[in-house]
Amino acid sequence: MKTIYMLLFTTISFSLKCQIIETQKCKNENNIAISEQELYSSDKEFQEKYRASQIIIPTVIHVLWYTYDENITDEKIFEQLDELNNCFNATNNDIQNVPNEFKKRIGNANITFCIVPNGIIRKQTFVNEIGIKDSDVFFSNNGGDDAWNTDSFCNIYITNTGKYIAGYGIYPWAKTKQVNGIVVHPKYIGINTNTHFNLGRILVHEMGHYLGLYHTWKDDNDCNTDDGIEDTPIQEHAYYNKPFYPQNSCGTSNMFMNFMDYVDDNSMYFFTQKQTEKMQKTVSTEYPNWLFNKLDNCALYSSNKIPFYVFPNPVSDILEIKIPYSSFRIIDISIHDITGKILFMQNENNVEKIKINVQNFTKGIYFLTVGNTSQKFIKY
Ligand SMILES: [Zn+2]
Repeated sequence: MKTIYMLLFTTISFSLKCQIIETQKCKNENNIAISEQELYSSDKEFQEKYRASQIIIPTVIHVLWYTYDENITDEKIFEQLDELNNCFNATNNDIQNVPNEFKKRIGNANITFCIVPNGIIRKQTFVNEIGIKDSDVFFSNNGGDDAWNTDSFCNIYITNTGKYIAGYGIYPWAKTKQVNGIVVHPKYIGINTNTHFNLGRILVHEMGHYLGLYHTWKDDNDCNTDDGIEDTPIQEHAYYNKPFYPQNSCGTSNMFMNFMDYVDDNSMYFFTQKQTEKMQKTVSTEYPNWLFNKLDNCALYSSNKIPFYVFPNPVSDILEIKIPYSSFRIIDISIHDITGKILFMQNENNVEKIKINVQNFTKGIYFLTVGNTSQKFIKY
């Protein structure tokens, strides 16, 4: 009886788990194509010059609690972030469990999530199970907490999502600028005692959706539709609990141990190469700022240095400056020449891109200072 109950519970919880994100699929594909084209035509040169191989994603954690036990500790959050980063860098301990036939398809997303300064927000809510509705959780006025600028920050909400929803990740193109992020129930965060989801992989799975991945079986319980990823075999349905290997449907050996299936945390081990490419592509189309961080391992957020990019250099007339994470501070911007003479000075708040006309500067070397960081540029 207990087994049947658990199975039933699991089935219900998973059928609801991703309900919110699964809307507007057809429209999505078109949106990707357009924004990608726009980005590459306008900023191609900039991208080629500055794109980093490791993508650093500035992350904000909103702990929205109703009961005291939902106000989980910083340690639990860091433990979860470690696991998230392991799974997105193919360094999770259990990756060796990938069956031999799929080992060559293991992908490394090369994505690291870093909590920004003051980026753990704790707030009591008076709405029980507020996480069920994204129309509440993303809005302070409805008892939730407003997301930080979703173009610049990945917003993760840790809050009660009710009995039947473990969490959900919203496709970047599915909702609005205000409703964009991931919501996970606090009981599934970090290493925990839950029977099925005890390793923090609910967030890994939902992050996959947030970065554009569909379920491996594409939700339809037949063999006609695919997730659009070349190296995940076509599969009829979801898998639950701890399936024995192998499992077959649609004439293939099914990759049920993929992070984008519904198996238990200790039975899912990897993203494929094509899935990781899709996630990187989603970053370049939806969150292009994140491509330009060159520092690894969250060092960006443990120092006061403000990353910025100057383009073109050398320059003849218009100097363009990109400051990807300016939105949480006021920044002084100045230019001086080699004698120390100041030729430009301005302070900016919440600006990610500014242009300065240097046409009238004489030829030579100049120093651009943004906050407490300087870079040299050449006027020709
Ligand atoms: Zn899902």
